[in-house]
Amino acid sequence: MNIKDLDKKYVLPTYARGDVEFVSGKNARLKDADGKDYIDFTSGIGVISVGHANERVNAAITKQLSEITHTSNLYHIAPQAQAAQKLVEASGYDMQCFFGNSGAEANEGAIKIARKFGEIDGEIKKYKIITLQHSFHGRTITTVKATGQEAMHNYFGPFPDGFVYADNILHVESLLDDHTCAVMIELVQGEGGVQPQDKAEVQALAKLLKSKGVLLMVDEVQTGGYRTGKFLASNVYEITPDVITLAKGIGGGVPIGVVMTSLKDVLSAGDHGSTFGGNFLSSRATCEVMDILAENEKSGVLAETTEYFNQELEKFFASHRNLFTQRVGIGMMCGLRSKNAETLTTVVGNAKENGVMVLKAGRNTLRFLPPLTITKEEIDEGFKALNIATSTIK
Ligand SMILES: *Cc1c(COP(=O)(O)O)cnc(C)c1O
Repeated sequence: MNIKDLDKKYVLPTYARGDVEFVSGKNARLKDADGKDYIDFTSGIGVISVGHANERVNAAITKQLSEITHTSNLYHIAPQAQAAQKLVEASGYDMQCFFGNSGAEANEGAIKIARKFGEIDGEIKKYKIITLQHSFHGRTITTVKATGQEAMHNYFGPFPDGFVYADNILHVESLLDDHTCAVMIELVQGEGGVQPQDKAEVQALAKLLKSKGVLLMVDEVQTGGYRTGKFLASNVYEITPDVITLAKGIGGGVPIGVVMTSLKDVLSAGDHGSTFGGNFLSSRATCEVMDILAENEKSGVLAETTEYFNQELEKFFASHRNLFTQRVGIGMMCGLRSKNAETLTTVVGNAKENGVMVLKAGRNTLRFLPPLTITKEEIDEGFKALNIATSTIK
């Protein structure tokens, strides 16, 4: 049976998969089963931040696997402690880490920290968590409820109580009450349509929450790991959150999720845990990814790549005002708002046919999440293909 039929027969149909089967990759290049080449402007939804088949990451995890893969969190795990050090030092915050396996799981951890904080801080039990409209926080029952998109709240109830949705950052203040323990936001909404928040508004919110003793939790599952130019979008926005969650780009393709927090005493032994979280394999991968990206930031390569990508994106935008109305995003998390949803679907489909992979976000945004290690040649090739792909669309 071919892979398409095998998939259809044995895998639950939760994904509307594109009809392509990739078999190998190198940095921002992909090859499908027919031998056709593609430029990858998606990096597996922001995961392959250091490119496909990264030699350093592969060497590091291969060596690790030849020694030890997993022991459980009942014992010390050297690369986990080292990964935590790298993450905390890169953040510039005084924090500690908890390791899980995905973005949703990281957010679950953040929510547990907020709920326990709300239980032990003060006389009144605080449990409400405010999130934003158009946010995305994951697919577990709790994180789906934390997600501020009505369409995602079908079928799976009853949900955990206590999630409140603000229309935007400015609307948060009016929703705060004695029962609010935390506010959770993305600084650039990813799935919601590559929508950056206003820096001054975010800074004012951070100040307000601090004065009220309400936690600021930043979901950096998509923005973290140097995607927005610095290690964290929180660094770009110059705020100090109480809790930060990470996943996607920090494992180079190996599943990992992290909760970082300055609340080092809220969770105690037995309050939270994970069988796989931060095992030798995933945390070794994260150590290597962090080293590569930190070097690229320090040497200026990341800034150069980001500038070049955005310059080429701007050129593409300027010559396609018939299809797109606005360029959005920060760093290597970029988007073009399309005139309508049909155009967007056509662009994504034509792009694939012409050998460049791009993403949709929200209803009407063409999203670009290229590997942070993408080369100028790969960027040029990708936009050349995208120009051809869009040349026939009116
Ligand atoms: C992708 C994403 C998640 C969910 O991550 P999973 O690893 O799929 O559970 C949560 N929050 C944001 C902002 C994301 O982009």
